[in-house]
Amino acid sequence: MKRRSALATLAYAVCTLSAQADDAQQAFVEANILAIFYHELGHAVVDLMEVPIFGQEEDAADVMAVLLIDWLFEEETAQSIAYDSAFGYINSTEQIEETEWWGLHGPDEQRFFNHVCLFYGGNPENRAEFAEDLGLPEERALTCPDEYDLAAESWGSVFDKMDAQSPGVEMRFVAGTGVDADIVNSVLRAEIRSMSGEITLPEQVSVRVESCGEANAFYDPSDLSITFCTEFVPHLNDLFESSSEG
Ligand SMILES: [Zn+2]
Repeated sequence: MKRRSALATLAYAVCTLSAQADDAQQAFVEANILAIFYHELGHAVVDLMEVPIFGQEEDAADVMAVLLIDWLFEEETAQSIAYDSAFGYINSTEQIEETEWWGLHGPDEQRFFNHVCLFYGGNPENRAEFAEDLGLPEERALTCPDEYDLAAESWGSVFDKMDAQSPGVEMRFVAGTGVDADIVNSVLRAEIRSMSGEITLPEQVSVRVESCGEANAFYDPSDLSITFCTEFVPHLNDLFESSSEG
């Protein structure tokens, strides 16, 4: 059964324009928290299920994040999460930073378009407007359904294997403290609750929200933990504000 909405803001009735703007910003932050969490969960699954990766693990984790958005949510919610989280890849809205060609992650714009392409490819009939709004070139759009099928098949077999190990072990959530932790706590606590029964991990993964001095999130295979840094919240708010100004 697909979820209608995990996001608090989508459940509210909106009355005023400024409330609408605030809600758009909150939805943006929440969608990105989810997508980042799914990416880190991708690293955890690669580790726990010993998924063979031919290429970069970062790309595989990005792909899993899109698939989870596509698989877990009803169309309208999935589209809004996929739309907002595409912008999470664009770290410098002013384009002054040099591309880090040596980095572990692909360049920002490439991750952005891979994300848009894959999500579009999952349902091209309903997502043409989504692709157009996000500037996916027609040339690339042609191959997206095939890219999606390949991704869904590869990750699908990993998920089938996990399901076969049912009931699996639920994730352990460790809430953070401080103002910026609140929204991360509420999104991730609700998400982990929704995932129990949907995603079956073979070992217990701890999900910690904490301040770590930078906007980052990471999976640590030595203690099977995902750390979500609260510094992401001001970073995502800045990203929303700078992209809506531009
Ligand atoms: Zn990663």
